[in-house]
Amino acid sequence: CHILGIETSCDDTGVAIVNSDGKILGESLFSQQELHLEFGGIIPPLARDMHEQNMEQATYIALEKSGLSLDEVDAIAVTNRPGLSLSLLVGLKHAKQLALKGHKPLIPIHHMEAHAFTIRMVEKVDFPFLVLLISGGHSLLAVAQDVGRFKLLGSTLDDAPGEAFDKIARRLKLRNLRRFDGMSGGAALESAAAEGDPLAFPIAEPLLQNRDCNFSFAGVKNSSRLFIMKEEEKFGVNGDEVLPNLSDMCASVQFAITKHLCRRVLRAFAYVESTGLVDNDRKRFVVSGGVACNTFIGRALRVLGTHNGYSVSIPPRHLCTDNGVMIAWNGIEKWKVNQEIHQVDSLELIDINSK
Ligand code: ATP
Ligand code: FE
Repeated sequence: CHILGIETSCDDTGVAIVNSDGKILGESLFSQQELHLEFGGIIPPLARDMHEQNMEQATYIALEKSGLSLDEVDAIAVTNRPGLSLSLLVGLKHAKQLALKGHKPLIPIHHMEAHAFTIRMVEKVDFPFLVLLISGGHSLLAVAQDVGRFKLLGSTLDDAPGEAFDKIARRLKLRNLRRFDGMSGGAALESAAAEGDPLAFPIAEPLLQNRDCNFSFAGVKNSSRLFIMKEEEKFGVNGDEVLPNLSDMCASVQFAITKHLCRRVLRAFAYVESTGLVDNDRKRFVVSGGVACNTFIGRALRVLGTHNGYSVSIPPRHLCTDNGVMIAWNGIEKWKVNQEIHQVDSLELIDINSK
């Protein structure tokens, strides 16, 4: 079967058509990153307007590339939660219009489930598996037990790791450097960290006393800001200038975030193994979401997992950040088990759940 997926939960307008073997037949992605970087964050009404501007064209391009007509698509899958309400509504409305026009069923998709299952499109990963989702809005550890069924082990108590990367990158004025043009804050920080010393600045590791699987990134952010302020004073850095020891600062921030992620994952390993939540003879660990693009973090988590007897899987980078492909694929997963397939009979909008 063929499913058309639509993603508009944040600042990317993504559409894709995927078949039941996980083959991407056509896709398109319009990013608003440049615009939002300019304003220093996402402004919801602006994001909505951009989605509205690009939505129809994104669908047209994806269909055109696939060589299929709307008639040949079996269902429309669309992100309906979580995300920015104004953004979600654009995708939902468009999905409903397509469903009505083509007499197709509609499949509402949870954006984080889509991140979690992306790997199953490219690799055989059976349930149950432990999954770490690290992105711009979330930090989650969960056991994926089946389609639509997760056991949540922990989440962030404050910021998400992607958010911490973005805010620290902004504080470091990475955008002022041409070589980071077009990169997200996280990607720019990773690139700047490449030559740096991760032990240069001792950013304290959060929640060392906690024995659960929750995360906290606000402390890393604040501690980094203090170090940056001190260094700026020391070097007399003003206005648009950046720190001369930028790479050391970035490497230290990346290291602090990585250490925290690793320590929480270790706790999750112990928990799922002792409670039988994973099959101890076939332990699988998946990492996904935009921050899973980070090579340093990916490498650390791979070593940690392998060392503890897990086979570790991370989707290719372009599937870690938001896209229509993962939504279409989640639609395929739901279609296969006949879950959440809705018939659409009016343009009245489906309830959206912003959490
Ligand atoms: P959510 O999925 O929680 O709703 P989102 O959809 O906005 O949030 P994603 O598109 O999954 O987030 O991920 C975007 C985030 O990933 C941004 O915060 C970005 O800085 C971060 N990111 C991207 N590449 C890297 C990298 N190489 N290193 C660290 N962070 C990165
Ligand atoms: Fe996302």
